[in-house]
Amino acid sequence: AKELGKSRWVEYGPELDAHAVEHAQVAAELSQALDRDELFVLYQPIVGLPDGEVRGVEALVRWRHPTRGLVSPVTFIPVAERTGLIVPIGAWILRSACAQGARWARELGPLAPWKISVNASARQLLEPSFVATVASTLADTGLDPTRLTIEITETAVFGGGRALDTVRALHALGVKIALDDFGTGHSSLGLLRTCPVDVLKVDKSFVDGVTGTVEQEAIATSISEIAQALRLEAVAEGVETAAQADRLLELGYHLAQGFHFARPLPADEIAPLCTHPAVP
Ligand code: C2E
Ligand code: CA
Ligand code: CA
Ligand code: CA
Repeated sequence: AKELGKSRWVEYGPELDAHAVEHAQVAAELSQALDRDELFVLYQPIVGLPDGEVRGVEALVRWRHPTRGLVSPVTFIPVAERTGLIVPIGAWILRSACAQGARWARELGPLAPWKISVNASARQLLEPSFVATVASTLADTGLDPTRLTIEITETAVFGGGRALDTVRALHALGVKIALDDFGTGHSSLGLLRTCPVDVLKVDKSFVDGVTGTVEQEAIATSISEIAQALRLEAVAEGVETAAQADRLLELGYHLAQGFHFARPLPADEIAPLCTHPAVP
C-alpha cells in the first residue's frame, strides 16, 4: 500500500495487476480491431425543437469484439488515447462519417441530414498532420466542409498551444467547431473568444436538471443565454423525456439529441427518419 496524504491509502494489490494486464490485452486487441473490421460507426440524430426533424447526426464508434461482445467507447477510447491508437482509429471514423454524409447528400438530396458531427480527442488535435487529414478526407469523400462539425472538449484547447492552432486551422477550412460536454471541463468564457466555436453541446448532467428546481436548471438556462448572446448554436444532449424537451424549448434551445428522439443507429436506419428538408 502507498500513502496518499495523511489518512488515505490505496491498495496496490493483485487487483491492480489484473487491471494492468487487462489494459495491455485490450490495447493489443484494439491495435488489430481496424484491420479485422471490428469497428463500426453508429449515427445519432440531432433534431430540431419543437418539430423533432433530423438536422444532423453525431458519429459514435462501436467495437464488436469477437469474444467480449460489444465494447463501449467509454472503455476503449481512453485506451486508444493512451496508446496513440486514437490517431489511426479517429482518422478511420472521420473517413467513414464523411463518406456516409456525402452518400446521404447524393441519395437524399435536400432531405439528407445537413450536419455530420465527429468527435476528436485531444490527442488527435496535437497531431501535426490532423488538419491535412481532415482536408484530404473532405476532398476524397466530396463532403462540403461546412457540413462537417468537429466536436472537441474545452479541456483539449484550454491551455492554448498546438491544439488551439489546429482548431483555428480547421475552422479556416470552413469546418464547424462544437464544444462537447460544455460546462463540465476547464470552462472559461474567455475560451469562447480565443477559440473559434460555432456550437455549444450542453452536457446531459445539466439537461437532467431542466425539469427540477430553478437552481437545478440554472446552468442549462445560463448556457442558453450565453449561446444567444454570442450567436452560437446550443445542442441539449441526453434528452430522455418529453418534459425535458418541452422545458428546453422554453429555455431557448432549438436543437436536441437524446434517447427521447433516437438512439445511435446504423446508417441505413437514418434515411427513413429524414422526411423533411434539412436546413443548414
Ligand atoms: P459524447 O461525445 O458525449 O457522446 C454522447 C454519448 O451519450 C454517447 O455515448 C451517446 O450514445 C450517449 N447518449 C445519447 N443520448 C443519450 C440519452 O438520452 N441518455 C443517455 N444516458 N446517453 C445518451 P457513447 O456512444 O457510449 O459514447 C460515449 C463517449 O465516448 C462519447 O461521449 C465520446 O466522448 C466517446 N466517443 C464515442 N465515439 C467516439 C469517436 O468516434 N471518437 C472519439 N474520440 N470519442 C468517441
Ligand atoms: Ca460528442
Ligand atoms: Ca457530449
Ligand atoms: Ca458525455
